Amino acid sequence: MSLAQTTAPVILAGAGPTGLTLAIELRRGGVDVLLLDRQADRGVDGSRAAGLQPRTIEMFDQRGVVDRFLAAGSPSNLPNFAGITLDYSQLPSRFAYAINILQAETERVLDDVAAELGAPVRWATEVTGVRQDADGVEVTVEGPGGIETLSGRYLVGCDGGRSTVRKLLGVGFPGTDPTMVNLLADVDLDEPPQRPMRLDRHEAGLITVLQLQPGWYRVVTTERERQAGPGDPVTFEELRASVKRIAGTDFGMHSPRWLSHFTDATRQAESFRIGRVFLAGDAAHIHLPAGGQGINMGMQDAFNLGWKLAAVVRGDALDTLLDTYHGERYAVDADILKMSRAQSVLMDPDPRVADLVEIMTRLIGFDDVNHYLSTMMSGLDVRYPMPGVHPLLGRRVPDADISTRGAGRRVFELLRVARPVLLDMSGTAGLAGAAAGWVGRIDIVAADCPSRVWEVPGAGTIPAPAALLIRPDGHVAWASDRDMDLVALREALDTWCGPASSRP
Ligand SMILES: Cc1cc2nc3c(=O)[nH]c(=O)nc-3n(C[C@H](O)[C@H](O)[C@H](O)COP(=O)(O)OP(=O)(O)OC[C@H]3O[C@@H](n4cnc5c(N)ncnc54)[C@H](O)[C@@H]3O)c2cc1C
Repeated sequence: MSLAQTTAPVILAGAGPTGLTLAIELRRGGVDVLLLDRQADRGVDGSRAAGLQPRTIEMFDQRGVVDRFLAAGSPSNLPNFAGITLDYSQLPSRFAYAINILQAETERVLDDVAAELGAPVRWATEVTGVRQDADGVEVTVEGPGGIETLSGRYLVGCDGGRSTVRKLLGVGFPGTDPTMVNLLADVDLDEPPQRPMRLDRHEAGLITVLQLQPGWYRVVTTERERQAGPGDPVTFEELRASVKRIAGTDFGMHSPRWLSHFTDATRQAESFRIGRVFLAGDAAHIHLPAGGQGINMGMQDAFNLGWKLAAVVRGDALDTLLDTYHGERYAVDADILKMSRAQSVLMDPDPRVADLVEIMTRLIGFDDVNHYLSTMMSGLDVRYPMPGVHPLLGRRVPDADISTRGAGRRVFELLRVARPVLLDMSGTAGLAGAAAGWVGRIDIVAADCPSRVWEVPGAGTIPAPAALLIRPDGHVAWASDRDMDLVALREALDTWCGPASSRP
């Protein structure tokens, strides 16, 4: 395979939320991408993900585009665990809330940012074949112009739960089979319920009725099985009959915009990296969309992988950096799948489960339980394994107020350009020498931090550190309180930013 024919260093199969976020991160890292999607255009595939979690919102804040999402959505009552409301208001984040934003709107904002950064989607282009060797990948695509072979250095399958890339590479997708079926419709209702219904339990099953926009409701029913075959398309009559069976009324439903079904099947790809090919988003994991996690997981996979791929393609870091993508995201995603399976038990139509739900509801009424679940469901508790004992290691850096050269700033503002940041708040400005071998690859920022203590999700209140190495995704790779361990700093720089340059 010759790199002379390289179409783009990174080819992305699938321009859903995961592929778009990854394309944006790669472009921010200065790398060209080819973003392919088999659909003819964006279209609108129903309401699907109805919100973004706090950590995802924070990530867009790190990149300076959060206002676009906040303008397209609003703070919501989305946070829940199996339908039991969670109170996020005490989370230590500037975004102690989820936002209600339909997936189509999220994709529209991401489409705009990707196009502005030079990564427009190439529509009507379906990935049908993949070959790889030590030098690169060859990707066969079918589109209006016929069959074409594209070549690159890396391919990422962001092509959804039925991922062609995953299947072509023969990656196992083990997990648990469905125990329930959920029918879903976006409809209008002439006789809507008096109050929003979220997983309301009735003898025949569970029902959710939420207003998405004026004249537009999402209706979901949960039953043990369907009369239609598991793969059959849902008809309006099937959905209406299910709603009537459970609620005793059809709420005067009409004008369906979208009909679909989903189950609690939960699966995870055995490996997120297969040589030069990676899997991200739904291509790497599927689960019951309970508690609003799926779109967030995919975008956070992309935030984790994007800067690493960019650093390797630019030649700053070694290919081994890319192994940490599976090492970090597989475990985090597996934990979220565990939470999802636990929620599916609480959503079981068996009437005896009602007692379990009641006990969980009482437990969530305790501040500590609410805090524990909220920290997990918000994505703020994610901690990647790092050597060392400092409580900040591997966690997302808090967005503390700081000042640089007398000007007030926030830590997240240092991450706008998606480069590693060595933040020196020790007042000694002594770190530049230790990091001399990485000049040009990292930003060294001397700052003052007025706050003596930081609130860290999962770690509680800790003393504000003297210095930090922050990765482009906002996770802390080295932290020091007073006695600067410069050997550990150089090791962290070597691991995350590539070997030191011998140039002065
Ligand atoms: C009913 C429902 C409700 C949901 N609610 C929530 C929620 O409230 N909160 C939440 O966080 N998540 C929710 N989700 C999950 C969320 O929609 C998904 O997790 C999210 O869409 C995953 O994004 P993705 O980019 O990984 O995959 P997708 O959105 O599936 O995108 C994959 C893309 O790849 C393209 N593609 C597929 N095959 C190929 C190929 N061979 N070549 C080229 N392109 C290809 C497809 O056309 C598609 O555009 C819900 C899902 C459903 C179905």
